[in-house]
Amino acid sequence: MIDLHCHLDLYSNPRQVVAGCKARGLYVLSVTTTPSAWKETQGLAIDAPRIRTALGLHPQLAAERIGELPLFEQLITEVRYVGEIGLDGSPEQKQHRKDQQTVFNKLLSLCSQHGGRVMSIHSRRAVGDVLASIAKVPDAGTPVLHWFSGTQRELQRAVDLGCWFSVGPAMLTTAKGIALARAMPKDRVLTETDGPFAQVDGHIAMPWDAELAVPMLAELWNTDINDAKACLRNNLQRLAAMTK
Ligand code: MN
Repeated sequence: MIDLHCHLDLYSNPRQVVAGCKARGLYVLSVTTTPSAWKETQGLAIDAPRIRTALGLHPQLAAERIGELPLFEQLITEVRYVGEIGLDGSPEQKQHRKDQQTVFNKLLSLCSQHGGRVMSIHSRRAVGDVLASIAKVPDAGTPVLHWFSGTQRELQRAVDLGCWFSVGPAMLTTAKGIALARAMPKDRVLTETDGPFAQVDGHIAMPWDAELAVPMLAELWNTDINDAKACLRNNLQRLAAMTK
């Protein structure tokens, strides 16, 4: 199946995790948190055509790594996917918010200048500003909001802006997460884990744990598991086609 947002390079044993993904035929979007991590992370997937490596600059590292913007600009021509990028409004990030916004604006404009990218976007406690930024750069590509945790009203605004969503089993453990997932258009939803940061049943989420979200989505969509899988596969095909 599909893990549209995980950090393969941040597992303690990345090569073993990649082997596990390959053995299962999993489609993976391997996101990175800094431009300088991209090359080595991409190297992990060199013999794995179903693993795509996204070029990212995580909002929590944006201030510290603002000096890597030129490297991002240099590498963007080599990638079809960008992420993890976005904004983070957590209290401990407050002092860095201006740098975060500067970096995010710059990354969106680079995506736009290069014809658009599929972008995996972090928006924790910052959905309003993330959506306002996206709205200002409509040619940046297709935003996929990962682990969305805003309000229903913000979700509607995101849908109106053309956003897609990646949803993991961790998100579907809360009533709020379930209600949000139910309100997402099913033709714009994909599965994810956010491993190794997320947990599933008390252990670190592995990319293949994304599949645990499928029965939950099937229930929300009033359908069976095979039908939900077909929908997710179709969504991935349409999203991948946008990178061509
Ligand atoms: Mn992440």
